[in-house]
This record gives sequence, C-alpha cells and structure tokens, in this order.
Amino acid sequence: MLELIKKKRDGLILDQIDIEKIVNGFVSGQIPDYQVAAWLMAVYFQGLNDEETAYLTDAMMRSGDLIDLSSIPGLKVDKHSTGGVGDKTTLVLAPLVAAAGVPVAKMSGRGLGHTGGTLDKLESIPGFNVNLSRENFIEMVKKHHIAICSQNAKLVPADKKLYALRDVTGTVDNISLISSSVMSKKLACGADAIVIDLKIGDGAFIKTIDDAEKLAEIMISTAKRMDRKLVAVISSMEEPLGFAIRNAMEVKEAIDTLKGHGPEDLTKLCLELGSHMLILAGKVQDIESGKELLSNLIASGAAFEKFKELVINQNGDVNTIIDPSLLPNAKFAHAYKSKTSGFISHLSAMDIGLASVALGAGRETKESPIDYGAGIILKKKVGDKVEIGDELAILYADDETFFTKAEKYMDLTYQISPVSPQKQSLILKVIG
Ligand code: URA
Repeated sequence: MLELIKKKRDGLILDQIDIEKIVNGFVSGQIPDYQVAAWLMAVYFQGLNDEETAYLTDAMMRSGDLIDLSSIPGLKVDKHSTGGVGDKTTLVLAPLVAAAGVPVAKMSGRGLGHTGGTLDKLESIPGFNVNLSRENFIEMVKKHHIAICSQNAKLVPADKKLYALRDVTGTVDNISLISSSVMSKKLACGADAIVIDLKIGDGAFIKTIDDAEKLAEIMISTAKRMDRKLVAVISSMEEPLGFAIRNAMEVKEAIDTLKGHGPEDLTKLCLELGSHMLILAGKVQDIESGKELLSNLIASGAAFEKFKELVINQNGDVNTIIDPSLLPNAKFAHAYKSKTSGFISHLSAMDIGLASVALGAGRETKESPIDYGAGIILKKKVGDKVEIGDELAILYADDETFFTKAEKYMDLTYQISPVSPQKQSLILKVIG
C-alpha cells in the first residue's frame, strides 16, 4: 500500500490491479484506515484519469452483492439525484415512468443531516414496507413495472467504508471519488441506463457549473466503459424544490404533482428527467414526445393510479393516498415571518434542511427517530416580494419547544434584497 500511496502522490497512473488491491484490501480490513486516508488525499490532489476512475468504480461495484435484473423484460433505467432538500422527484418519477410501461426497479436510501431520503418519505405512509426480498422486488417489477425498496446492506460495502473515511478527511468533493461512489451503487443495482439529476448550488456537493460538467463527463465515460448509457441533467439547488420539506408533506406534494396540480418547478424537473428515462428505455425518440406522453399520463389519472398500485403492493394504507389529510400531521404549527421587506434573493437549501431536522423531521444521527408529520411548508420563494411580518414559511412539529431552534436556522435561510433578483433557470444543462 505504501508504494501505491507514493505512486499516486507522485502523479503516476495506477493500473487495474493496483486499484483492486486498494479496494479489496480496505474492505477486507488488511489495509488500515490511515493508509487509505493518505491515498484518498493523494487522489484529491493528483486526480484520477477516466480509466482509473472506471477501474475504481468497477472494483467498488464488485465489493459486495450485485443485483441481476435481467429477468425483467425491457431496459431498466435508474435515476439518481446527487442530493437536495425538498427533492421528492423519485416519488413522482417512479410511478410516472412506470405508467408509461417502463420498468422501474428502484433502490433508495434514507436521509441524514440536512438531506431527506426517499425511504423515509415512503415510510410516512402507514404500513408502507420498503424491506422487500430480492425475489419479491423483482416479481413486483415484472408484474407492476414498479417497486421501491431499501438498498441491501451488502451492496457496495467499499462505498460505505470509503465514504465514511472521505467524510472525515476532507476528500468528499473530488469528482472521480463522487463519480465512483454514485456509479458503483447504480451499477450494482443492475441498471442498464441511468439518468443523473446533478444538483449544483447551496446544499449540494457541487457548487459550480464547471465542476458539474466535469462530473457529468467522467460519469458518462465510466458508463460507456461499462457498456451502459448515462444522461446527466444539471439542475439548480439554489432553493428547495416545490414548497414542502420533509416526509408526509412531500408525499402530499408528490400526489398533487401526479394529479397535475403540483408546483411548477417540481413538475418541470420531473417531466425533463422522466423524458430522458423514456428515451434511454427506447420508449420515445425525443424530449418533446416524452414530455407529451408523461403529461398525458398525468392528465388521464394513470400516473396517480400507478402510485396507488405501488402503495397497495407494498402494504401501505391506500386510504391515506386517496385522502392525504389522513397522512401523519404534526400537533403544532408556527408561522415564520419576515423581519425585513424586499425581494427574496436566496433561500438556503442547507439551512432549511437543518431547520427541518430541528423540528424532528430529519435525523441528526443514523439512529435518530423521525416525526413523519413534522416539516416546513414554504409560503414564499426566490423572487417573491415580501413585507415585514409576511409569512415566509409555516413550521410544523410535535413539540412546541422545537420552534425556537428551528427559527435560528430559518433566520439564516433567507436573503432579502431591495432589488428583484435575476432568477436562475432550474434546468441548466443536459449532457450525454
Ligand atoms: N453522493 C454519493 O452517493 N456519493 C458521493 O460521493 C457524493 C454524493
């Protein structure tokens, strides 16, 4: 390992055997954390070329179980978001794309810190079971074109260990390391093609469009080497998506969107990502036909019916979907009001995510319990004009004392300026 650390430190290229030695030695416990930490820092400064990144992805992918979806007819297209706040796109996209006849075999994760997770959102539907056996998961997708389950603990153990080390050694924000982390998981889940929703901005790992483009290119190159297709949609995370932040509230907003009356930004992003999924699956030829097909599935009620089918199949209480007021509701509501007047110029996704954790809606540690009814509904977003005393957001919690701490984060969330800001486009670029 010492030789391999020095090789990367000195800017030399590692071959496939070198990289496999590092990944396998780390996962088996033969190579200690401190040596891998030093190697990660060498990678951070010297970078990995496309070939090395593909070897790393491949070694990580093969460090644990591999899901074989080949018995499901058709091309399996997965979607991945690099993380955001109020990002409920999977709840909309999975049933929407499945309603178009494209199989959606989705493995999702939980939220930690300021970001939310699809599994937590789904579990706010009483009874919803995300722990499906491999066979059950595949059978559901074959029969209903849709299933969403928890990522198997044995999937890509190399990423779990490497990510934990990157998190404490200042080596998270390197594009080759991000790419191999995301791609190894997607590939291990058996996808034939992948649509990446690559977020940039506050609260996202990637801050600039240049870095997002570099990350997209390296992901595309890795996918090509592994004989898969990939499209990256670069989208803005300058403010949360939609108005609802956290679990049951996001499920309600996803239901509105599936019925055709959801927030404009969320609807727009879902139609864009969904159309790329349909193109990759060979269902349509171009974006316009994709958007038309998906809009028709929303208008006809087929998209919402597919969501109901998903909930029923996975033992969720469908009555709460038919009448979302039956979903968990928090005991207390508190209006957060503006202290100045002007135009909202920025809405920090990171701080609002932390405010929602303070309300009991997210996890501070992996073991923290969640209040499914707690969260935030935004009343104003970037570009809106506000006066002193106007309601900016309504905070919801089961314990009134949580509002004080959440308000501290809310104070950091909003930037209000005297002039109307130039609103950034939601979809910035599509690559692939
Ligand atoms: N998301 C991941 O799964 N891995 C990273 O390294 C960054 C974002």
